[in-house]
Amino acid sequence: MKARQTPMRLASIKKYLRHQSIMQRKSTFANAFASALAPFDEYSPEAAAEAIRDLGQDPEEDLVCAYCGQPAATWDHVFNRVIGGEFSGHGHRVRNLVPSCRTCNERKGQKSWREWLRVLAPSDEEARVVNFERFLSKAAIAPFTFDDMKHQAHDELTRYLEIRAEVFRLMKEADDLASIIRSRASAPKQPG
Ligand SMILES: [Zn+2]
Repeated sequence: MKARQTPMRLASIKKYLRHQSIMQRKSTFANAFASALAPFDEYSPEAAAEAIRDLGQDPEEDLVCAYCGQPAATWDHVFNRVIGGEFSGHGHRVRNLVPSCRTCNERKGQKSWREWLRVLAPSDEEARVVNFERFLSKAAIAPFTFDDMKHQAHDELTRYLEIRAEVFRLMKEADDLASIIRSRASAPKQPG
């Protein structure tokens, strides 16, 4: 599908004319720290095909969005890896990834798969719920929790969180320095 072109208006320059801090990227860094903890499955064509069949699709055909049935363009994590900047316990697993159109992938946000299906209300909603339940019920490995991490790797997790805090502290310090550098360098030059 072709992306819709919107005409460009002069006022759109506004979003470039502002201070851009390093700390504005904090959530990107928080996501990176959370994502790095996420477990992942090795690719297995058989396991992926079986999962797709459980979703009610033919692994040999073009895939469709598990939510709305439009042609799929990407993979959606059924359970987000990151919730509120913290690792959720869910990873890049075959039974946590469903084919999705871009609209559903973007608009689902923090909603659960069930809530998103309710919002969309497709005519075959009940069949889709059954498919999702079958797909998810065969997930071999339960997601791990923050408590699991604390018990199994207490010292490493403690240090990991310290490093994250230190990265944020350094980003803030760099922002403060940037602000001083910017204001001194742009001060009017003294004559002579
Ligand atoms: Zn969709």
